[in-house]
Amino acid sequence: MMSVSENLLGNVFGIYLARATDEEILKRKVASGGAVTALLAYALEKGLIDGVVTAKRTEGLEGQAVVARTREELLETAGNKWSIVPFASRMKAKIEEEDLKNVAVVCLPCQAQFFGQMRDFPLLESDFGERIKYIVSLFCIGTFAFEAFLNYLRMKHGIMAQDIKDIVLKGDFLEIYHGDSVLSLPIKEVYSYLQAGCLVCTDYTGTWSDISAGFVESERGWTVLITRNLKAEELVKSAEKDGYIELRDGSHVMGEVLKAAREKLARAQKNMMYLL
Ligand code: SF4
Repeated sequence: MMSVSENLLGNVFGIYLARATDEEILKRKVASGGAVTALLAYALEKGLIDGVVTAKRTEGLEGQAVVARTREELLETAGNKWSIVPFASRMKAKIEEEDLKNVAVVCLPCQAQFFGQMRDFPLLESDFGERIKYIVSLFCIGTFAFEAFLNYLRMKHGIMAQDIKDIVLKGDFLEIYHGDSVLSLPIKEVYSYLQAGCLVCTDYTGTWSDISAGFVESERGWTVLITRNLKAEELVKSAEKDGYIELRDGSHVMGEVLKAAREKLARAQKNMMYLL
C-alpha cells in the first residue's frame, strides 16, 4: 500500500492493474480490461449500491445519462465517452425518479469535482450528495465540441457520425473506429476541436473521486485503478476476493500516469497564458 500523497494525482491510497474475470465483460472491453464494469457489477450484486449513473453513447459522439441497476444494463453503457454528457444537472431528478438511495457515479474529472464537492460540502437545500456512495472518475485528456469535430470528420475524412463505433486514445493517436475501418489521427491534429474548458483543465485523473480509472500504453488489456480512500480500497479488494476482478500491483505504471497528468497541466498552463 502506498502512503497518502498530495501531488498532481491527488490522494493515492493504492494503485493497481485490474481486469474483469467475466468473459462477457472482457469481450466487450478488451482495450480497457473492464475492471470498472466488473467493480460496479460487484457493488450492485452485493447490494452496496442500488444504481450506477453513467453515460451511454447513443449516436456518433453523443451520449445520454442512464441509470444501470444490473450487470446487463452496465454492459450496455460500454464505449468511450468523448463528449460531456450533461448528466450532472439531470442526475438529481433521475435519482429521485428512480428512488435511488446509494449510487455510484461514473464520470469525468470535472464532474467528479462537482459531485465530490456536493457530497463533502452539501448545499443546505439539497440532500443529493449523501446519496452518492462512490465517485469513479475516468482519466481524461478532454472532450470534443462534438458538432465541430463531427463536421471535421465528415468534411476531411468522409466519416459520418452514425458510422462511428468507438474512439480510442492510443499513445499520441486517436483511433476512430467507423464501419469496418479504423482512422488513426495524430492527437495534435484534433486538439483544436476540444471543448474550450478542456484546454485549461489541469485534472487528468479526477482527484475528487473515490476511484480513478484509465489505462496506460504499456499495459493494454488492464485497467489502471487508483484508490483514494479506505472505502474505495475495500471495494477493490473485496471484488478481487470474490472473484470479480484480477488484481496486480500497479506501482510501476505510476510514472506513466504522472507523465500524462504533467502533459495535461503543461497544456493548460500554455493555454492560460494566451487568456491572460
Ligand atoms: S478535460 Fe477537464 S474539463 Fe474537459 S472533460 Fe476532461 S475533466 Fe472535464
